[in-house]
Amino acid sequence: MQNLKTQSLKNTRVLIRVDFNVPLNESQEITDISRISAAVPTIKKVIVNGGIPIIISHLGRPKCKDSTLSLYPVAKKLAKIMNKNVIFLDDCISKKVKSKLSSSTYGEIYLLENLRFYKEETNGDLSFAKELASLADVYINDAFGTSHRAHASTYGVAQFFKGNKYCGLLLEKEISSLNSVFKNPSRPFTAVIGGAKISSKIDVLLSLLNSVDKLIIGGGMAYTFIAAKKGKIGRSLVENNKIKAALEIIKKAKENNVNLILPIDSVNSISFKDQLASSVSEINKIPANEMGLDIGPKSIDLFNKEILSSKTILWNGPMGVFEFNNFSKGTLSVGKSICESTYKGAFSLVGGGDSIAAIKKFNLTDGVSYISTGGGAMLEYLEGKELPALKALS
Ligand code: AMP
Repeated sequence: MQNLKTQSLKNTRVLIRVDFNVPLNESQEITDISRISAAVPTIKKVIVNGGIPIIISHLGRPKCKDSTLSLYPVAKKLAKIMNKNVIFLDDCISKKVKSKLSSSTYGEIYLLENLRFYKEETNGDLSFAKELASLADVYINDAFGTSHRAHASTYGVAQFFKGNKYCGLLLEKEISSLNSVFKNPSRPFTAVIGGAKISSKIDVLLSLLNSVDKLIIGGGMAYTFIAAKKGKIGRSLVENNKIKAALEIIKKAKENNVNLILPIDSVNSISFKDQLASSVSEINKIPANEMGLDIGPKSIDLFNKEILSSKTILWNGPMGVFEFNNFSKGTLSVGKSICESTYKGAFSLVGGGDSIAAIKKFNLTDGVSYISTGGGAMLEYLEGKELPALKALS
């Protein structure tokens, strides 16, 4: 891939694909500006190098044009953050957009409307991609979060820019952070994987077994492993059709000499509600009418000890239903130990929507080495898959 840092872009229109898929509340107000701020270094770099930024992004999952998912509020927020005027154009490829951009001049910053108002975007339609490509002379992809999808504005559009496509600064940082975890990590290397379902993470678990020294498993998915080991898990979350997969992971861990660490106790509840726990039990002795919603105190101690003796840590997925205060202790404790280990010199990478939501909830964002913005993209990269949008850039 070519280097954006040294490239002169004098009076060049530069199409920048960013990830402005920001969270909105019921009144369509942006509740977290991190994704907008994260794109600013690349936009500034384009301006410093002489270019005219034409920014494109998706927001949410609209099926067609939907005013509640317009990028207009994002344009206003970006203008505020950059302290510059941002011109918002209410379409992506209309005649009006093309004519406005053809007379654009240096000093202007453009943001186009939500790409997903066109179904052609997620379909990876090449005619739509070609229209987008016609808007600029240079293309930059800075949206790691969508790089595992072959969409028109990522995979498709890059094909129309032969020698003049670049990796944005954020995307570059994402990849180098993932590489520092995967290519030559300081050891011991520990992965902490949680969340609801084993089914969505089987491939990544199997792939991690080729590189980690320790694999800690918590959250809802741990109960399928306990069921596979014939433990009594009451009414806890279980994927009966993944028992075989769990056994395969246990077997592969042994073969690869990976220390697979499962919870040893569980905090349980009679119902899926934020109420006081009904019991704390051994993980394989959960009362028949109860469900495990968090790891227990012995598991917290065990996990913390293993995390504190690690030099590289990857964290994806909460240890329990952290959204309920009564069942958030496991996730909070693991988050704190990862920060403590980082403070002592370990490299820690956190990724995946819910892990990020958890560290934000517990104010731990400054304590980890790197937060990856792309949940699905990160998992696929870690599985060793080639990400289509990155491939198209090379
Ligand atoms: P994922 O998207 O697979 O990472 O799953 C994240 C979700 O898993 C969060 O919303 C958690 O509330 C949920 N979760 C974690 N532990 C449990 C559990 N023991 N039982 C049910 N849901 C859980």
